[in-house]
Amino acid sequence: MDFSLPDKMSGVIREVVAIMKSEVYPLERLMAERGSFAAIKPELSAVRDKVRRAGLWTPQLPKELGGMGLTLMEHARVSEELGRSPLGHYVFNCQAPDAGNMEILHQFGTPEQKDRWLMPLVRGEIRSCFSMTEPDRPGSNPTWLETTARKDGTDWVIDGHKWFTSSADGAAFAIVMAVTDPDAPPHARASQIIVPTDTPGFRRLRNISVMGHGGDDYASHAEVVYEGCRVPQSNLLGPQGGGFLIAQERLGPGRIHHCMRWIGICERSFELMCARAASREMSPGKPLGTKQIVQAWIAESRAEIHAARLMVLHAAWKIEKEGLYESREEVSLIKFFVADVMMKVIDRAIQVHGALGVTDDTPLATFYRHERGARIYDGADEVHKVVVAKRALKRFGLEVK
Ligand SMILES: Cc1cc2nc3c(=O)[nH]c(=O)nc-3n(C[C@H](O)[C@H](O)[C@H](O)COP(=O)(O)OP(=O)(O)OC[C@H]3O[C@@H](n4cnc5c(N)ncnc54)[C@H](O)[C@@H]3O)c2cc1C
Repeated sequence: MDFSLPDKMSGVIREVVAIMKSEVYPLERLMAERGSFAAIKPELSAVRDKVRRAGLWTPQLPKELGGMGLTLMEHARVSEELGRSPLGHYVFNCQAPDAGNMEILHQFGTPEQKDRWLMPLVRGEIRSCFSMTEPDRPGSNPTWLETTARKDGTDWVIDGHKWFTSSADGAAFAIVMAVTDPDAPPHARASQIIVPTDTPGFRRLRNISVMGHGGDDYASHAEVVYEGCRVPQSNLLGPQGGGFLIAQERLGPGRIHHCMRWIGICERSFELMCARAASREMSPGKPLGTKQIVQAWIAESRAEIHAARLMVLHAAWKIEKEGLYESREEVSLIKFFVADVMMKVIDRAIQVHGALGVTDDTPLATFYRHERGARIYDGADEVHKVVVAKRALKRFGLEVK
C-alpha cells in the first residue's frame, strides 16, 4: 500500500483544513451558546455556500452528479478532517444518513427517483432519513422486522413502528425497510420504499432524548409510526425483496466514512488532551504532562489512533482492489476496533481536563455523549466480533452457525 497523498489531495486537504479552522470550529461554540442545531442554520448555510464555491461540495459523489469525484481512499482522508467537528460532514454535504441515501439512490434509483430525490439532496436543498430499526424487534436481526408494506391497487400501504430514524425531523423523505414478501427466504423478505414525510400516515412521534439531549433538526433521532401510509408502487427503491442487498451496499463504504470520521474525533481529542497536559500547571512550573500516567495515556492513544487509521485505510484499499464482498472481515474489524479506540481516547482526554472535560466549553463532552452510540449503530460491536471469530474458527475446522 502507498500511504502518500497524491498532489491533488494535498491541495484538497489544505483547503478543507482551512475552512474547518476558520469557519466550522467557531460554529461549535455558537451552537453550544444557542442550545440547538436549528439555531445556527443561517450560519451553517453561509458556510455551506462557501464550501460549494470552493468546489469542495459533496466530495464522495462522482463529478457528473455535482460531487468532487473522490475515490473511497481519497474521501477517507477528507472524512477524517471533517470528523474533527460534529458539524464538519454536514457543512460539506456528506453527512449520514444523507450520504448513504445518495449512494443507494444513485445506484438503484429510477430516473424519476433520481430527479425528484437524489438531485435535491446533492444540491443540499433537502435532507432525508433511513428508517429501519424498530423498538420492538432487535436491530441486530434485521431479517425479523415487524413493519409491512402490502400492495393495494397501484400503491404500497405501509404499517409499522420505527425508532432511531436519525434526522427525520425536517427531512423531506424517509427510505423505509418493510417486509413485502413474508414467505420468501429471510434475506429476501424486505424492500426499501421511499416515503415523503408529508404523506398522510407518516407520523413523527418525537425526537428521542439521548444522553439528556432531545436533539432537533438534523441532529436528532426520531420515533416514527407508519399508519396505513400509502405511496405509489413506483416509490420502490431497487428490486422488490432487495432491501438487504441494498442495505449491504450502503453500509460497506459507509463504515469507512464513519470510521475515518471517528479517527478525526480521536485526533481532535488527542490534540486537546496534549494541549491541556502541556499547559495545566499542577503546581508552579509543573504541568500535568510531567506526570508519567498522563504520558502513558498520550503514548497509548497515539499508538491506538495510528493503528486504527492504518486499519481503516487498508480496508478502504482492499474494497477498492477486491470489492466489498472480499473485504467483509476487514470492514467488521474496523467497525468495533475504531469505535473502541475512539471511546478510550475521548475518555482519557476528558480525564486530563478534569471538571472542564465534562462541560460544553470543549467539544469533548459532545463527542462522548454522541459517539457512545458508535458501538451500537452500523451493527453492534458484538455482531462484528462474531463475524470475525466465525471466519477465524472456520479456518480451524469449526463451523459456527
Ligand atoms: C446514535 C444512533 C443512530 C442510529 N441511527 C439509525 C438510523 O438512522 N436508522 C435506523 O434504522 N437505525 C438507526 N440506529 C439503530 C441501530 O441501527 C440499532 O440500534 C442497532 O442495529 C442495534 O439494534 P438494537 O438497538 O435493536 O439492539 P439489539 O439488536 O436489541 O441488541 C442489543 C445488544 O445485544 C448485543 N448483541 C446483539 N447481537 C449479538 C450477538 N450476535 N452476540 C452477542 N451480543 C449481541 C449487543 O451488545 C447489542 O448492543 C441508530 C442507533 C444509534 C444508537
